Amino acid sequence: MQVVKQPREKIYVSVQHQPQRTCIGCRQVVDQNQLQRWVLGHADGHAVPVPDPTRRLSGRGAWLHRTPECAERAIKRGAFARSFRTKVDVSSLVIAPEAEVQTQTRENTFTNVQPESGSEI
Ligand SMILES: [Zn+2]
Repeated sequence: MQVVKQPREKIYVSVQHQPQRTCIGCRQVVDQNQLQRWVLGHADGHAVPVPDPTRRLSGRGAWLHRTPECAERAIKRGAFARSFRTKVDVSSLVIAPEAEVQTQTRENTFTNVQPESGSEI
């Protein structure tokens, strides 16, 4: 048998600008910097997906767009459980980080509405 060395061109073809990852929600393969990495964490004895913004946490990672749509799809498909190869409790998963921001904004609005300001002083 003759050992054929890989031609250089093939190596260059396989080098990509960014590592590619598959979104577990919509199954699109995109640059990993467009996706949020999730790892398996624990809360109240349950295995839960937790975001890994630094991408440095050890263990199996799941990649997901930062959109509620993709998170919803991933939850419905049980994609987290498949990615982590274990049962995952997604009931406590915060689907949209934007939702939190909106709530805070609303709270601030309420705080700003002062009832009859000055009347009790
Ligand atoms: Zn997606």
